[in-house]
Amino acid sequence: MTDQSHDPESVKRRHREAAARVVPVTEGQFIDGSWQPSESARTLDVSDPTTGERLCSIDAGTSEDIDSAVDAAATAFCERWRDTSPAERSEMLTEVADRVEADAEAFATLETLDNGKPIHESCADIDSVVETFRSFARLQEEIQGLARRSPTSFGATVWEPYGVAGLITPWNFPLSIAAVKVAPALAAGNTVVLKPAEQACLSVLKFADLVEDVFPPGTFNVVTGTGTDAGEPLTKHPEIGKLSFTGSSAVGRQVMANAAKHITDVTLELGGKNPLIVFSDVDVEETAETVAHAIFFNGGECCTAGSRVFVHEDVQDAFVTELSRIADGLTIGDPLLPDTDIGAKVSADQVARVESYLTLTERTGGTVHVGGMPLDETLVESGCFVRPQLVTNLEHNSRAVQEEVFGPVQQIFAWSSFEDVITLANDVNYGLAAGVFTNDLGNVQRAVRDLEAGYVWVNQYHTNAVGLPTGGYKQSGIGREGGMESLREYTQIKSIDIAFDP
Ligand code: NAD
Repeated sequence: MTDQSHDPESVKRRHREAAARVVPVTEGQFIDGSWQPSESARTLDVSDPTTGERLCSIDAGTSEDIDSAVDAAATAFCERWRDTSPAERSEMLTEVADRVEADAEAFATLETLDNGKPIHESCADIDSVVETFRSFARLQEEIQGLARRSPTSFGATVWEPYGVAGLITPWNFPLSIAAVKVAPALAAGNTVVLKPAEQACLSVLKFADLVEDVFPPGTFNVVTGTGTDAGEPLTKHPEIGKLSFTGSSAVGRQVMANAAKHITDVTLELGGKNPLIVFSDVDVEETAETVAHAIFFNGGECCTAGSRVFVHEDVQDAFVTELSRIADGLTIGDPLLPDTDIGAKVSADQVARVESYLTLTERTGGTVHVGGMPLDETLVESGCFVRPQLVTNLEHNSRAVQEEVFGPVQQIFAWSSFEDVITLANDVNYGLAAGVFTNDLGNVQRAVRDLEAGYVWVNQYHTNAVGLPTGGYKQSGIGREGGMESLREYTQIKSIDIAFDP
């Protein structure tokens, strides 16, 4: 029986053994089909947030690396990729899915070492990577334009790729968010330069290593580095035909401003401060489980996290009691072990960010219930851990409510009038997702109609079983990701009007 202890020494030993097995040995930037050192000759250290130990270093890319990657991608687009057939691209995307699936356990372990998320959540992320590549291998063959005729001409539309797609991704779902961009961008016939988040990009580097010989050189490129040194030059590059960014609204605003310089088309998937409305007719125990999962999944590091909960006053006390019971029972410990519900935050900076909001909450009169069951107190005290928290008695217009905390912190409010709760639910700059919990169809219809959000779940949360597109209203973004909507984001329409021979 393998050691399952959560004490710091056992955890360090377990993480070192896992790192020796799965941390990629290839170093450099993946440009034009091979690994090249960054022009800067500088590196950034990557550490394991659970233990604080160094895992490896990554190259600190700069505008020179971005230039090389974009050149390689532009050449690959013109000379090779745009002339591949849908069937050929489908075969390559399927090959990628097969390879990731065959190595899924190593990918999930790496994601947990690098990001700190519980292993069962990393496994689900990697399953979604496989499914994403499979689905775009199928879907791109279904791109269909219009065909029209008049007495004098025949017309048609074709969906054409932009050329080079510049993709920038965050650290909370490192490989699965990269996949949601890379797969449709390639499927639609673009070549790609990907800049993953510097805080957690090892799974993306392992991915590049694994698929090195699948695509023609230059088709898929990865440049690592910080947002300012590597991300920003990508957003300003004149050869980029399409930018797709997932991250905070603050950086999204800069990305859009930079894209404006060359009128580059941009998709933005940004932050959220998502409202959940609980009506009085719900089964309190069952609904509280779903509402707790809405925030504590992925340690609250989720753009769609259910961070503001509005509970009807008739069930408020019972609901908060039930939520507290669930929060108290969440285990915090080594994310590599299967009994852990809440793992480590990605970095000390992220811990400080969440804690700064808690200080603000307490200063503005909020009542904080701290939950969680550390499986080893010393580990939780020494690593990047934040305990789950429930907050009541906050003013809705306070900063801690209006801004995205991005941690395991749920703010709860009581309501009595439907009009008032809708007003409050919509009273933030964000509009990414929302949840409605009731057994009354009329309540569902009114709430779904009035909520300003790109995705509304009813009596469930964080599910996407039917493959609907995601994306934000208001300052949560522009554009949609998922299914055919993604293919639309990575193509532009050409109308062709051919005169009949007189
Ligand atoms: P972030 O905005 O700090 O960074 C995201 C990416 O942008 C990173 O790769 C970073 O290096 C890069 N970057 C930073 N500054 C840049 C600049 N000036 N120019 C170009 N690139 C730059 O976000 P984060 O902290 O990595 O991720 C968390 C945020 O992402 C949260 O706000 C979360 O809600 C959001 N998010 C949104 C979605 C969605 O689908 N809507 C999904 C996941 C995360």
